[in-house]
Amino acid sequence: MNGNNDWPCLNIRRPDRLDAMLAIYIHIPFCRTKCPYCDFVSRAIPGEVPEACLDALCSEISGFEGPMDALSIYIGGGTPSLLSLEQVARLLKVIARRFRLHDAEITIEANSDDVTTDLVHSWHDVGINRVSLGVQSFNDETLRYLGRRHDAATARRACEIVGSVFENWNMDLIFGAPPVEAWKSTLGQCLTLRPSHVAAYGLTYEEGTPFELRSDDAINEDQWLTMYQQAEEMLSAYDHYEISNYALPGHASRHNLVYWHNEEYAGFGAAAYSFLNGIRSRNHEELAAYLACPGEKMEALTLSRKEIRTETLIQHFRLRQGLRKAIYKERFGRSVEEDYGEVLTGLIKRGLLEEDADWIKPTPLGFYLNNEIGLALVE
Ligand code: SF4
Repeated sequence: MNGNNDWPCLNIRRPDRLDAMLAIYIHIPFCRTKCPYCDFVSRAIPGEVPEACLDALCSEISGFEGPMDALSIYIGGGTPSLLSLEQVARLLKVIARRFRLHDAEITIEANSDDVTTDLVHSWHDVGINRVSLGVQSFNDETLRYLGRRHDAATARRACEIVGSVFENWNMDLIFGAPPVEAWKSTLGQCLTLRPSHVAAYGLTYEEGTPFELRSDDAINEDQWLTMYQQAEEMLSAYDHYEISNYALPGHASRHNLVYWHNEEYAGFGAAAYSFLNGIRSRNHEELAAYLACPGEKMEALTLSRKEIRTETLIQHFRLRQGLRKAIYKERFGRSVEEDYGEVLTGLIKRGLLEEDADWIKPTPLGFYLNNEIGLALVE
């Protein structure tokens, strides 16, 4: 596939202001099978991603009425690695026609069992520059518990292939599934495979999923904290830059930082969220409704200035770096102390936040108990 002239040539130029640009999210609502813990919008399909879905996505992207400039594309799901190479290339081509891409981070999510050497090289050739790989664990018993299709050997092989082609790639891991003793070994194997980015989330037993009935298996808070701290210790070569995310220098996810900075993003595809002009909206979740009217919103909420300010703080306090006071003032025209002085003082007294002249940021305790910060800010 190398050098095929049909592949899109992405019109990349360097931005003056990263923060004035959009993140683009594409939702692929299909998986090969449905994992029993997962509450993402996706349905199991036996074959390829239907062309009708690609037609709808392309039409939605081409007809998008909004900003031109974008700093990232994230093809997520669902399982985007079910897309054929032609479908990936078509999506990128349509996006490159509609948006000016500024040295964009272009990520595709992949399941370990879809990864082949040819496919990964081909993604690179069509313009993908980052892969986010669903590994979850290197323990077969854990993977079976989670209902994953791959085993540990397949996950290792997928990591080796992705790591041999992409310098910038993420490994998704889950802790809290039995046997809990396997978590350290999973972290050890992660280190030997040297992803540039690791996302480590605790397993949740969500309502409406088959795992809801297994919630008695959930680990308690002490076990959760122990496993969380094991990740912090073993991934100490990485910057623990967000409560669940770790990056080698220069490899923080530019796309996800847009969410954590509460900046604007445009989502395309069934059930995709957008945040534009102070409005948070969501496309139709039902595939038939989405295909009939791509881009039509099933819900749209205009956020008040206060809601946007509060969410901006909550999101920034997920980040180790926290919030730069000058950024808040530039964005909202008032100092953060004027708006939230009392509640911030309370959180500092409780040891959840700390501040200096320029920044307010979560302490290590504020990282573990991040929900407490959010709760205090919305009260
Ligand atoms: S592959 Fe990912 S998106 Fe699909 S069901 Fe499993 S966890 Fe959910």
